Amino acid sequence: MDNSLAMKDDIILTDAYQRQFSYLRLSITDLCNFKCSYCLPNGYEGKASQNELRLDEIKTLIASFAELGFKKIRLTGGEPSLRKDLLQVIDICKSQPGIEKVCITTNGYRLNHFLPQWIAAGIDQVNISIDSLSPEQFELITASSDLPMIIGALNRAIDGGFTAIKINTVLLREHRDSQVMPLIDWVKDKPIALRFIELMQTGDNGEFFNRQHFSADKVKDLLVDQGWTEKSRLIHAGPAVEYRHSSYPGSVGVIAPYSENFCDTCNRLRVTAQGQLHLCLFSEEGKDLRHLLQTTDSEPLTEFLRSSIYEKLPKHYLQQQKTGATRHFAMLGG
Ligand code: SAM
Ligand code: SF4
Repeated sequence: MDNSLAMKDDIILTDAYQRQFSYLRLSITDLCNFKCSYCLPNGYEGKASQNELRLDEIKTLIASFAELGFKKIRLTGGEPSLRKDLLQVIDICKSQPGIEKVCITTNGYRLNHFLPQWIAAGIDQVNISIDSLSPEQFELITASSDLPMIIGALNRAIDGGFTAIKINTVLLREHRDSQVMPLIDWVKDKPIALRFIELMQTGDNGEFFNRQHFSADKVKDLLVDQGWTEKSRLIHAGPAVEYRHSSYPGSVGVIAPYSENFCDTCNRLRVTAQGQLHLCLFSEEGKDLRHLLQTTDSEPLTEFLRSSIYEKLPKHYLQQQKTGATRHFAMLGG
């Protein structure tokens, strides 16, 4: 029997459009030490302490989502590796019955140090943001000179047998020639996943977006021309359309948020580092969950989530430049 169908039966949270939710993206800090041109071009500007969810609050939160049939948690930020108790957060998620996959998205900061620790802690997947394989362009985009260290850490993990790695690349018009084909060539001998993400407009990056956006559909066309074929979508999968090729050990995915029907398969909810529920990446507002997290009893939150889900809109309105409350992705994890 198809395992993905078996799992579908125990997903409880369904919205007014019959979409089922099983994937939580949890931001654990707003802080970030990179200055990605599309996200925080001036770097993180807030206060150092941002009243982040405590470990006991995270425990209640995760228990509640698990009760509702959530299977996958992605830890994100800001930069999640900046949180000193990250290993404890991973442990809370891994120990929660019902949670099958605990993933993290990182900019690669001190990856040589952290990646072996996360693997030892049982992380199920690590997404690393690499927008260019050229150290100069990488630095131009992120203001970080860490690319050689990041590639070294990644290669060591693969050599050691950890291949649950995804590379996230945000497509930028100015850099596309050094992004698309060089990255596809680079993964030819790597059993990992590469994912191209179409640049999304946010409250803060309108002018940058107008200069740098180009449609991810062009990458989809290129993949098909080169003999890649689309895979069928798994139930707890993220938003990417995934492609396979007989000459490549890994896969290439494309996230095209401006494409028609993108929101029809949405299975995700987001919680910010301060415990605000965002029903969509581009919601007009967050819903405060914090008062429901001051107890080990997960039932009040479970009830709140059951009723809130009906407020989720059928789609985002990015095509109409409606970016909601999202000034940049660092504030809710992308
Ligand atoms: N700091 C970590 C990182 O960069 O991987 C995790 C948080 S970051 C907000 C999550 C993902 O969102 C990254 O892959 C980043 O490249 C992507 N991202 C940020 N802003 C974006 C935008 N405006 N459009 C598309 N992707 C974006
Ligand atoms: Fe930081 Fe990630 Fe935003 Fe880059 S994309 S500035 S690494 S939060």
